[in-house]
Amino acid sequence: MLKLTELNELPQGFFALKSPRELHTLMPNPTLLHLQGRHGPCLFVSVLLHGNEDTGFFAIQQLLRKYQQQPLPRSLSVFFGNIEAASFGKRRLQDQPDYNRVWPGGDMEDCEESRLMQEVTDIMADKGMFASIDVHNNTGKNPHYGCINVLDNRSLQLARLFSNIAVFFETPRGVQSMAMAAYCPAVTIECGKPGVSRGIEHVLEFLDAALHLQELPDHPLPPHDVNIYQTVARVTLPEEHSFSFNNPQADIQLLPALDRYNFSELPAGTVFANTAHPHARLQAWDDENVDVGDHFFTRENGSIELKLPLMPAMLTLDETIIRQDCLCYLMKRLPLEHHS
Ligand SMILES: [Zn+2]
Repeated sequence: MLKLTELNELPQGFFALKSPRELHTLMPNPTLLHLQGRHGPCLFVSVLLHGNEDTGFFAIQQLLRKYQQQPLPRSLSVFFGNIEAASFGKRRLQDQPDYNRVWPGGDMEDCEESRLMQEVTDIMADKGMFASIDVHNNTGKNPHYGCINVLDNRSLQLARLFSNIAVFFETPRGVQSMAMAAYCPAVTIECGKPGVSRGIEHVLEFLDAALHLQELPDHPLPPHDVNIYQTVARVTLPEEHSFSFNNPQADIQLLPALDRYNFSELPAGTVFANTAHPHARLQAWDDENVDVGDHFFTRENGSIELKLPLMPAMLTLDETIIRQDCLCYLMKRLPLEHHS
């Protein structure tokens, strides 16, 4: 039975933890930690919604170490999500749903994980939040960027504090930042690969800056200050086809080093894969979960290539992640002046 633990102080031994694999020894359940600061309302931060994505955990550990002898500039609530998967170094366990698809507003069926996220959301909505930050890593070569689900000035200001690249998306639903956007400016930050110290430092600086903010201004960002992209499709590999980056027997052979295309604006005709199979294709899912793969990709002499100029993000070379989640997202650039 999944149970939420709420704490009002940091458990003994937290600073001695060498990795989130050990976190379950102090926090056996998903845990919501409330720490009092000089001002309210609190900043809400979630980490380890994906158990292998450790940057947020290490950044929180360093942030709290910094404020051991002095009060936090602002109250802080931290949600440590999939501690169980973290103890195995996994995104999620085989029998678990994705902890970042089960927040209120999602279309997953009711389950104990969705009830837990509802409980966390209700507690935080009751307390009131200044802003919400959900910390993630990804597996390919990606710059650091923020994702928002509402295109308003305050959300963009929050995202801009982290990076000059912002991604606006409406699906997948059931993500933390979409649930929290109903109550405060909310951002999902993507901080590159796990276990990289530069990523931890960047998140630490961002969280510290967010704790020091008096307010999130409601005026537009200067033009050219931020690049905003909107996801238009999520690309997957059809279940019925095998795929590989290096096995020439697979139905679909993805190009090696495909992840170098991340955040590059690609021309039409850019090749993603080769195939000898007569029906092999890439699927692309729009916001209504309709497969629009034939709108974005075309087959040309045994190659699967882009039909339109677009920019991919989160392209990964990890075959397990591709099956569990997706190959990449496709994005188009949005003009800033539309969002004042
Ligand atoms: Zn993640």
